[in-house]
Amino acid sequence: MAEKMMAAVFTEPGGPETLEYREIDRPEPQRGEVLIRVRACGINGFDLLARNGRYHTGQAKPHVLGGDVVGTVVGYGPECEERVAEGANVALHWVRSCGSCEQCLRGFETTCLRYGYLGAKYPGGYAEYVAVPERNVAALGDYSDLHKAAAFPMAFGTSWHMLVTRAALQPGESVLVQAVGSGIGVAAIQIANLIGARVIGSAGAQWKLDRAVELGVDPDRLINYTSENLHEAVMRITGKRGVDVVFEHLGGEIFGDAVRSVARNGRLVTCGGTASYDVSMNIAHVFHKQVSIIGSNSATRWEFEQIINLLREGRFDPIVDRVFPLHEAAKAHAYLDERSGFGKVVLSVEQ
Ligand SMILES: [Zn+2]
Repeated sequence: MAEKMMAAVFTEPGGPETLEYREIDRPEPQRGEVLIRVRACGINGFDLLARNGRYHTGQAKPHVLGGDVVGTVVGYGPECEERVAEGANVALHWVRSCGSCEQCLRGFETTCLRYGYLGAKYPGGYAEYVAVPERNVAALGDYSDLHKAAAFPMAFGTSWHMLVTRAALQPGESVLVQAVGSGIGVAAIQIANLIGARVIGSAGAQWKLDRAVELGVDPDRLINYTSENLHEAVMRITGKRGVDVVFEHLGGEIFGDAVRSVARNGRLVTCGGTASYDVSMNIAHVFHKQVSIIGSNSATRWEFEQIINLLREGRFDPIVDRVFPLHEAAKAHAYLDERSGFGKVVLSVEQ
């Protein structure tokens, strides 16, 4: 008989109340997998979409959400290298790629034809234990704030892949970061600061812009897009030049203005559409100015290693909005359904 563990799961999609804290089978680490005692798990927008049925994950029910997982190595399946010692605290890379499809062979593991995410296709971190491939584990060393660490991987990994790898943001370039209060917006500001780029930030609420000032953004380079047209504001701030890079994840109606805000030969990099996937734009703003529109998905294992190293060295400071215990996962989802905070909401999974 399988050993048991507690987890916050849902069986039918619905509101926050569908998340139920109960006993399920504890995972057994398979060949090449490690068993992790979960210590904290960040909540992402994806979790809310999966829970209310807007995104079908393919995982068997009851579904265990949670891709941003931090925990302690407590066991190994067969044929592990035991590269990370038992008892070590680790963060988990949320992407599982196959390693053998055309995309993987070309080095594009984030567009693997068979990829699956932790907490989506595979059981995630809303549980006391999770089993993952050994290659997905990165040691946190003596980085001790596990709540901050759980607010880190997906937001900073996704933003890193967008700005560093896909858009190749350079020191001295200007970058418009959309929705500075979001998890990836906060990450994008910190990464742009590290690179030495010049940030212009946007948000739909003044209090979020005020918090962006605390992250080092010049108050004169912040735009409230509910009270001022985004494109006009960018042109005012940049002396009619536009920005070298737009960091976009809103989609929807503002996307056309975001495209117009790009300077000649600049680029717009996008990883999503939280407002809407449907956008409209004037294509002349793309070809006349030779603008590149670049898609970006997730982050590679190597990028994950790089950002964890920078976290350990204190180069990044993830922002935690609020912490809920795992058994209050439904309450945490209700909190996120009702309002958007600044930074991330984290579930604490203490013994
Ligand atoms: Zn693949």
